[in-house]
Amino acid sequence: MRSAIVIGGGISGLAAAWELRKHADVTVLESAPRVGGQLRSVYVAGVPVDVGAEVLTAEQPEALALARDVGLADALREPADAALCIWSDGALRPLPARQVRGIPAEPAALTGTGLLSDDGINRLSQEEALPAHGLEGDVPVAEYLAGRIGREAVDRLVDPLLGARGGGLADRLSLRAALPRLAAVARRGGSVVREVRATLSTAPSPATAAYGVDGGLGRLPQAVATASGARVLTETRAHEVRRTPAGRWRVLATTGDGPLVMETDAVICALPAGPAAALLRPHAPVAEAGLAGVRHAGTAVVTLAFARATMPRRPPEGNGYVVPPIERRATREVTFLSNKWRHVDDAEPGLFLLRASLGHIGEEHRLAVPDRHLIRSAVVELRLAVGALGEPVAARVTRWENALPQFDVGHGERIDTIRAALKALPGLDVCGAAYAGMDVASCVASGRAAALRVVAGAAY
Ligand SMILES: Cc1cc2nc3c(=O)[nH]c(=O)nc-3n(C[C@H](O)[C@H](O)[C@H](O)COP(=O)(O)OP(=O)(O)OC[C@H]3O[C@@H](n4cnc5c(N)ncnc54)[C@H](O)[C@@H]3O)c2cc1C
Repeated sequence: MRSAIVIGGGISGLAAAWELRKHADVTVLESAPRVGGQLRSVYVAGVPVDVGAEVLTAEQPEALALARDVGLADALREPADAALCIWSDGALRPLPARQVRGIPAEPAALTGTGLLSDDGINRLSQEEALPAHGLEGDVPVAEYLAGRIGREAVDRLVDPLLGARGGGLADRLSLRAALPRLAAVARRGGSVVREVRATLSTAPSPATAAYGVDGGLGRLPQAVATASGARVLTETRAHEVRRTPAGRWRVLATTGDGPLVMETDAVICALPAGPAAALLRPHAPVAEAGLAGVRHAGTAVVTLAFARATMPRRPPEGNGYVVPPIERRATREVTFLSNKWRHVDDAEPGLFLLRASLGHIGEEHRLAVPDRHLIRSAVVELRLAVGALGEPVAARVTRWENALPQFDVGHGERIDTIRAALKALPGLDVCGAAYAGMDVASCVASGRAAALRVVAGAAY
C-alpha cells in the first residue's frame, strides 16, 4: 500500500492518519476550515476553553497515550475538583463520591442527600439480596436496571449521568453497547451494586480519573495532524468514493477552488454515521442501511464568564452538576470550569467561567431558538440552581447538531452487519464515534484499528 485517504479530520480520522504514517502517504480530507471536529477550543473572555469534548478518561488510556506521543504530555492536567451534584427537586444535591454512572457503591450514602425517597433508597439497598437471573440478549439499560435498583434510581441517578456523557436516555440505550461491564453482570446474574464496588476497587481515584489539556483539549487534533505528517486538505468535502477497474479507489471531492479527484490504495471514512452511509451506499448497501439507522442527538454548549466581583455570593463549589431529564429543565449538565481546571482559573482569576450543556436527548427541538434565548435559559436556570450570579461578561453558544451517536438496543448487531458487509471491500474501511464508543479514547482506538486493517489488507 503506497497511499491512503482519510475522509474526516476529527480525532478518529486523525488517529487513523497517525497510525498509517509509517505505511503510506496519507491525505486527510476535512470539509470544515479546521481539523478536530468535536474537539474544539475557543477564547471566551480571553481564556482558552473547550466547547466540545474537554476530558480524556484514564479508564481508557488510548487517547492519553496519543496525546503524550504527539507532544502534549506537559500540558495534561488533572481536575482540581471532582465533586459532582445532581440538580434534583429544586436543590443541588451532592452525589456520593463512590459511584459509577450514578449507582452508589454504598446505597446508605444516599441517606439525607435528598436524591432519592426513603423507598427509593430501601429498594437500592436490597439489590444485593435480589435473586440472580442471567439475562439473555440485549435490553434497554432502564429495563434491566429498574428491575435491580428501582425506577426512581434510574430516573434520578443513572439517567442524568448517562445524559452528561451524551449517552442518551436509559429507556432506549443498549445495555450491551453502552454499559458492557454491566451487561456482563446481567448475563451471569450478579449484583449491580457489588459490581460498582469491584470497579471502584480497581479504578483510579475520581480526581485522577480524567485529564484535560492546558489551553484546551482542542489542541490535540492539530498536534496529531502535524505529528502524522499527513497532507491535510481543509474545506474539502468528499462526496463520492468509486472503485477503479484496477481495484484501487477514487475519491471525488469539492474544494473552494472546484472539484478534486484523487486515486488511492485505501480509503477510511472517519465520519458520523449519516455522511459515512452516503459514501458507502454504492458499495455496501447493507452497511449503508445499518449506518443510516444510527440515531444522532444534538446539544448546545453555552459558555459563560462572570466577573467574580459582581457575584454577590461566593462562587459555587465542586465540578458542576447534572440534571435528570425527568426534571424537564433545558439544562442537561453544567461544568464549573474555573473550579475544575486550575489552568482556566489561573488564566483569568477575576472571572468565573462555566459551561452549560443544553438539550436533553430527544428534545433537540428546544434548541431551535436564537442564541440569545439559549443564553437566557442557561442563566435563568443557573440562578435557580446556584443562586444570584450577576450578568455574564461574556457568553458563547456552540451548537453540535447530530453529533452524539445513540447506541440503541441492537447496536452491537448493527455494527456486526456493517463489519460483515465491509469484509468484501478490502481497502475501504470506517471508523468513528458511531461504532464502539463515542468518547475520545474509543474514537482513537477505532481510527487506529481501521488503519491497521487497511494496512493488513483486511477490511473489518
Ligand atoms: C459537546 C460535546 C462534549 C463532549 N465531551 C466529551 C468529553 O469530555 N470526553 C470524551 O471522551 N468525549 C466527549 N465527547 C464526544 C467526542 O468528542 C466525540 O465522540 C469525538 O470527538 C468524535 O470524533 P470523530 O472524529 O469520530 O467525529 P467528528 O469529531 O464528528 O469528526 C468528523 C469530521 O468529519 C468531517 N466531515 C463530515 N463530512 C465530511 C465529508 N463529506 N468530507 C470531509 N469531511 C467531512 C466533519 O467536519 C468533522 O470534522 C463530546 C462531544 C460533544 C459534542
